[in-house]
Amino acid sequence: MNETGTALRKWFTTAARDLPWRGPFPRDPYLVLVAEVMLQQTQVSRVIGVYTTFLSRFPTLEHLARAEQDEVLAAFGGLGYYRRARSLHAAAKALARAGCWPRRASELVRLPGMGPYTAAALAAFAFGGDEPPVDGNVMRVAARLQASEHPAGSRGLMGQARTLALDLAGRPPLPETWEALMELGATVCTPLRPACPTCPVRGYCAAVLSEAPERFPASRPSRPVERHTWAALWAERPDGRILVRLREHGPVLRGLWLPPIAELGDGPDEGSDDERVALLPFPTPGVSVRRLPAFEHAITYRRIRIIPYRVTLASDTPDELSPGWRWEHPGDVVGRTSSLLVKLHRAVVQGDAS
Ligand code: SF4
Repeated sequence: MNETGTALRKWFTTAARDLPWRGPFPRDPYLVLVAEVMLQQTQVSRVIGVYTTFLSRFPTLEHLARAEQDEVLAAFGGLGYYRRARSLHAAAKALARAGCWPRRASELVRLPGMGPYTAAALAAFAFGGDEPPVDGNVMRVAARLQASEHPAGSRGLMGQARTLALDLAGRPPLPETWEALMELGATVCTPLRPACPTCPVRGYCAAVLSEAPERFPASRPSRPVERHTWAALWAERPDGRILVRLREHGPVLRGLWLPPIAELGDGPDEGSDDERVALLPFPTPGVSVRRLPAFEHAITYRRIRIIPYRVTLASDTPDELSPGWRWEHPGDVVGRTSSLLVKLHRAVVQGDAS
């Protein structure tokens, strides 16, 4: 195993991509935290620009802890998954209050939004921790090196990958081994077309002996699709501003500014226009309402059928709204909303043109 680790580290010294969050170990924990949070479920190429801009705006943990949440969400713009931005902000506040960083993965994992992977990466890259960070890339490489029959994402494969990562890193563990495993998975041992002829560890790989190394790991049964129906109101004043509400609850889109929404389970929308207009936080006698063709919005395994309602408001609607409601120009809310608002706007424009 140590020959494999040595080959891996040797390859990494020449082949590693030059990424702004990489540098000698140990690294600044704040920079590791920002990078690891941004990289969750997001491609490196998309993260690079946002990471650099984010750090120029919030160069230290204290800057981030003092920022308003809207500023933090806006600085995360383009990456999506704003729950991560809110958790990062909450973690920064908790760390600033505490006045010091916990150093162990088992302590770091208690910070807001911190999963076992991010906690292990932070402990390993910033504090010399000995718990390997195991992400999807590491699991795939481990599955192939050992021709594992455990399915992707399974507990069994996670355990195998962790053991392999520990073996390869030696004692005390060399953290670059774990970053090299991730890099190999991201650039060489890719999901569909592993570049085995150029792989630095092909001599130690069990899967490469098979006709189809990409067969490892076996895919796991996919989660069943959940279907939902939402009615969404595009309620617009003559000055072009629309009504949005901070979504404070629900399993998805929490913390974002969205149009008024009625969640209707998984059935059809049988509500009247009056019922839909009753979602507005002020009386609207004689308001104009138009129901538009539905469209689908997917969030991971959820398929949400959106039924848009175009509500044209009079100019005498109140400027002052109760907390959690705002009038916003659609272009100004970008970075604090979901792509759902963009799709809703498109439906309204198409509806107006028809
Ligand atoms: Fe992956 Fe091929 Fe390298 Fe094995 S030899 S680790 S399958 S790229």
